[in-house]
Amino acid sequence: MKPNNVVIVGGGASGLAAGIHLARQGVRVKLFEARDTLGGCCSTSNVDGYTFNNGAMFVAVPRLLDHAFARLGLDRSALLPLRRIATPQASVLPDGTKITLGDRHRVRVDGERGDSRTATLQAEIERCVSKWNPLLKIFIDDLLTQPMSIARVISKAWRHLPKLRGNFADELKRSFSDPQARAALAAVTLYTGLPADRTPVFLIVGLISLLEDGLHLPEGGMGSVSRVLETTFRQLGGEVHTSTPVARIRIEGGRARGLTLENGEDIAADAVISTASGMSTFSRLIEPANVPRAMQRRVQRAPLSHRTLSIQLGLTNSLQPAAHSVNHIPLMDEQQRLLAPQPGRIEWFNYTVPTQPMPELAPSGGSIVEMFTAVDEHLPLDAWSEETKAATADAAIAALARYQPLAIATKRITSPKDYAEGMHLFGGAVYGLSPAARPDQQFPHVTPVDGLYLAGQTTYPGFGVATSVFSGVFAAEALIGQ
Ligand SMILES: Cc1cc2nc3c(=O)[nH]c(=O)nc-3n(C[C@H](O)[C@H](O)[C@H](O)COP(=O)(O)OP(=O)(O)OC[C@H]3O[C@@H](n4cnc5c(N)ncnc54)[C@H](O)[C@@H]3O)c2cc1C
Repeated sequence: MKPNNVVIVGGGASGLAAGIHLARQGVRVKLFEARDTLGGCCSTSNVDGYTFNNGAMFVAVPRLLDHAFARLGLDRSALLPLRRIATPQASVLPDGTKITLGDRHRVRVDGERGDSRTATLQAEIERCVSKWNPLLKIFIDDLLTQPMSIARVISKAWRHLPKLRGNFADELKRSFSDPQARAALAAVTLYTGLPADRTPVFLIVGLISLLEDGLHLPEGGMGSVSRVLETTFRQLGGEVHTSTPVARIRIEGGRARGLTLENGEDIAADAVISTASGMSTFSRLIEPANVPRAMQRRVQRAPLSHRTLSIQLGLTNSLQPAAHSVNHIPLMDEQQRLLAPQPGRIEWFNYTVPTQPMPELAPSGGSIVEMFTAVDEHLPLDAWSEETKAATADAAIAALARYQPLAIATKRITSPKDYAEGMHLFGGAVYGLSPAARPDQQFPHVTPVDGLYLAGQTTYPGFGVATSVFSGVFAAEALIGQ
């Protein structure tokens, strides 16, 4: 029987997508969000006139977002204009060599024998893109738009499966002769918190997509994605409750029956979709006696992603770096050094200037800078005092100040504790599950508890806004039995 009355925990991209999909089918949907605004990790905040991201920084694979919007009956290009970031990334190596990665396969080496090395890199890029592009297309246009199934992967991508053995570092060594170019290409996936030799080779599709399409920013910033989803959900009659944390998912007789809010109110429902992570759902939102053994084990063994400290600066001066995102990096095999705390002076770091493609995110003539700096993963969340935050951030800002003039008007520092408490990210781990998590370590959309469904970035391979939207659609489809 089709449920008539569904509640959703969490108003990020996945919760809003699930809500839209259900509301379009005539289901009555109530969505409960702990924060005072919707959008979760795909939202922005205005701080002293500067628009800072609360998580996601760019749209990496625009075609996948187009597919996700289309699945919700939305025309992405009409509702959410994207601005292309033509020069997504530049990497500066220790000897001063600079390697710039542009879209449409444009690359450049500035340094010793720059012209001949550029020509070699260009040729190697062409070969690498033609090797991986067919697989990228299969994933974007087919596999990622359906609930993941091993049988489907084999039937659609069997020709390419031998390529998927090994890690990203092995593939870069096979395909690129210049060690400095390898370092620059490896840096593209450092946002995962993993060095290239621990990054699944599959993530090379992120590099291929960057070289093909560049990166994109929605007009108005990343928060525009969620604003479109929120407007649609409300127009379809979806009920939104912000500043309303859910304390418990009520399970009675082995079935999800609704929610208990932190304010003590009970909300009855025919079914529940939780977009809090699988870890939070089964370790905090459900009475331990009602948690199925298989889910208990999955929580205990969940490989969490890295933690980080985010530093966001609002500047009164305008920065014009070589690319949207700039890395100061060592060679590929030493890049673990950028992912670990660097006591004393910071040598290796990355920064992004979203105002480069979108000046309107800062007051006229100003800029925004975003940096993530490595932290001690073993430091308990409670150890993130204001002093520890400030000291860690100051070291990263000092490193940046050696290269860029910084007239700082405002800054926001987000520690792992802030991610855990303010953004509700389990353990402060930025992506929930590690990008290296295997499909069997993900959480299922259809749980062993009747009437309880999961969506969000712990249910889906990959960890981006578009895949989160899809996860909401998949949970909603499973719920209404499509
Ligand atoms: C720092 C960072 C950078 C990123 N960069 C990119 C990027 O550049 N590009 C990209 O595509 N993706 C990026 N991502 C990933 C992307 O932002 C996420 O995959 C996506 O936004 C997740 O959406 P979601 O709905 O699954 O989860 P969330 O956005 O986390 O939404 C879940 C919501 O549930 C709410 N919630 C949790 N528990 C409760 C409760 N008990 N009661 C009520 N509400 C609750 C939370 O407050 C939150 O709003 C980044 C993520 C982070 C953190």
